[in-house]
Amino acid sequence: MEQAQNNDQAMTRDSLYGTAAESTYAGITSFSRRRYSRDLRGVDVVVSGVPFDTATSNRPGARFGPRAIRAASVQQAWARHWPWAFDPFDHLAVIDYGDCAFDSGTPQSVPASIQAHAEHILEAGCAMLTLGGDHFISYPLLKAHARRHGPLALIHFDAHSDTWPDEEGRIDHGTMFWHAAREGLVDPSCSVQVGLRTTNDDSQGFAILDARQVHRQGTEAIIAAIRQRVGDRPVYLTFDIDCLDPAYAPGTGTPVCGGLSTLQALEILGGLRGINLVGMDLVEVAPAYDHADITALAGATLAMEMLCLYAARHKVGAAR
Ligand code: MN
Ligand code: MN
Repeated sequence: MEQAQNNDQAMTRDSLYGTAAESTYAGITSFSRRRYSRDLRGVDVVVSGVPFDTATSNRPGARFGPRAIRAASVQQAWARHWPWAFDPFDHLAVIDYGDCAFDSGTPQSVPASIQAHAEHILEAGCAMLTLGGDHFISYPLLKAHARRHGPLALIHFDAHSDTWPDEEGRIDHGTMFWHAAREGLVDPSCSVQVGLRTTNDDSQGFAILDARQVHRQGTEAIIAAIRQRVGDRPVYLTFDIDCLDPAYAPGTGTPVCGGLSTLQALEILGGLRGINLVGMDLVEVAPAYDHADITALAGATLAMEMLCLYAARHKVGAAR
């Protein structure tokens, strides 16, 4: 393990590449000690936060999610992410872009602000790993990603389907994939929802691997089913932390019993290596209801797993 010459790598690191340990308990908490920057030149992946929770239907507070995930992420930034054989930061230039700016006083303007934020980053040729925020943010993010990549296969981890019928223009964190399917942003026929355990009599064409199937069939069968569903299509991966059981993720707005363990989720994500991942988000971490950073740490660990998954397909091949 290389020891950093300076703490606060978020502003002192010379290279966008590599992992070097610094005091876990100290310093500026960028995501995984990446440099805070708005300079997109030479950048492969942008980590950014969208601290918006106005669409929450029960307990608010996911606006504090990006900050909590960043703070938890530094606990794992001292070495290569276990159990992967390579360090994604040796192959991908990753920055922490900070948070999306929007006017919380005019909520109807926020979706366009999030979409513009994403389009600016995607147009520079960067991929996005976005930290929510409530799950509504995936909708404007999908608009931006579909504009660049065409209709997407969606891999959606959640306790909830988020496909309940809605009306145009509403801001709701339980309906955005109904909108996304109707608008052709995602293709339900090659998309899959994992971990569901709430009632919605219309699947809107999405394949569903509910929480009970995960528990009964095991992660290997679930991995095979997801891989078969998405094939080699461009995939947007969205992870609502309430896919995890409240025992593993108490810090969220709409917890539902009977969910996945953190390990089950990590196993499934790790088993997807090689899929054509083009964008990803991790949403609904609400630290006010958390205990001992359980949820924030799960969110940071899952986000790193997603970054490794992206690197497995897109890594340049040799450390720079
Ligand atoms: Mn949910
Ligand atoms: Mn959700």
